[in-house]
Amino acid sequence: MRRFQRNASIFADKDALRESYTPPEIEERDEEIADYMDALQPVIDGWEPDNIFLYGNTGVGKTAVTDRLMEQLEEDAEEYDDIDVTVFSVNCKTLSSSYQVAVQLVNAMRPDGGEIAATGHPKQTVFRMLYDELEDIGGTVLLILDEIDSIGSNDELLYELPRARANGNLEHTKVGIIGISNDFKFSDQLDPRVQDTLCERELHFPAYEADELVSIVESRAEIALKEDAGDEGAIRLCAALAAKDRGSARQALDLLRLSGEQAERADEDVITEDHVEAARQELERERVEEGIRQLTHHGHLSLLSIVSLAAADDTPARTRTVFERYQNVCETMGISPLSRRSIHNHVKDLVMLGILRERDNNSGSGMRGNFNTYELDVPFDSALSALAGELDIDERASELRRLADINDVA
Ligand code: ADP
Ligand code: MG
Repeated sequence: MRRFQRNASIFADKDALRESYTPPEIEERDEEIADYMDALQPVIDGWEPDNIFLYGNTGVGKTAVTDRLMEQLEEDAEEYDDIDVTVFSVNCKTLSSSYQVAVQLVNAMRPDGGEIAATGHPKQTVFRMLYDELEDIGGTVLLILDEIDSIGSNDELLYELPRARANGNLEHTKVGIIGISNDFKFSDQLDPRVQDTLCERELHFPAYEADELVSIVESRAEIALKEDAGDEGAIRLCAALAAKDRGSARQALDLLRLSGEQAERADEDVITEDHVEAARQELERERVEEGIRQLTHHGHLSLLSIVSLAAADDTPARTRTVFERYQNVCETMGISPLSRRSIHNHVKDLVMLGILRERDNNSGSGMRGNFNTYELDVPFDSALSALAGELDIDERASELRRLADINDVA
């Protein structure tokens, strides 16, 4: 057996590229931080805090900036004897209702023993426990509800909490809620009364531009990589690729980590643009595989039809052609086919998922009008490998690969 050997050429602190790492410095968010601090000013002044709703795509620094600001706020509040600030933070990603969030909050406030079970208590009892805990803490309590959009329209807690003082449920403690959402439409679907209170202060973090991502990746590379292990061009490429996609710092940093792993595997001690390119393909492949895994059986078969057309260099193809190939595929596999209409819908879904690209063709004759054609919008090989993982088609997959080779399909 090969022996374990420490990899030591690229990373100085690889953990600094993990999701859970809080960076010591926040780059490029001065304006947003100034607005955020404004919204938190009542806390330092000793007044009842405003509730804050912070939204923006994933990876734009909402959690990182909030963590840093809360540390700062707790530290600065120590300077004033008459205020007492406590912060509790709950990530709601795996919680789907107000009830579950309330249970998590109670448990966050009862760290050693006394935790309650996630089910089984009447809702009003859990809310009562929450008020009791809050009342015991006193002063100002800020509740960070990160990824709050996962509770959907189950938003009772967001209605109850801000009214707790007015309703006599809280006397000593001032509570402020900071709701953070990846989905800007979340606030639209809230009960209008909840919207009014939760969104007293609304903050938006826009996607990052390429040059902003360069400084974020550069400063993180200084911590995470060995000196000179990151080529300047490679770092710029991580930033540029992420900027072109969704402007997410998470994505740029993931690229850097995967590129480092590529370099390590190749036994090299500098990350180059080639490593970044290989890492990008790896991420893309993961994305495609994830999307394909989620399709239904006939979704897989529809995609297989297009993949087999692509292998023969017969794409872009019209719905009619795709359907004929699909019928063919079903016949050889002994499956009864769905209607042309359903396959058309499956094809549309594949377009929505970014797996296929739709083109609007003008026939020019004026007789039949326009028609759409479809082709793969992901690498042929990724689509075929992912399908082969889902369907039992090993032999057919090698055949298609050979055919694609002959036709020089990338
Ligand atoms: P969000 O909560 O908006 O999804 P995060 O705050 O988790 O995004 O940011 C994603 C990653 O990018 C984290 O590793 C975070 O530390 C880093 N990051 C985001 N914005 C910045 C920034 N302005 N400066 C430094 N690091 C950042
Ligand atoms: Mg976050």
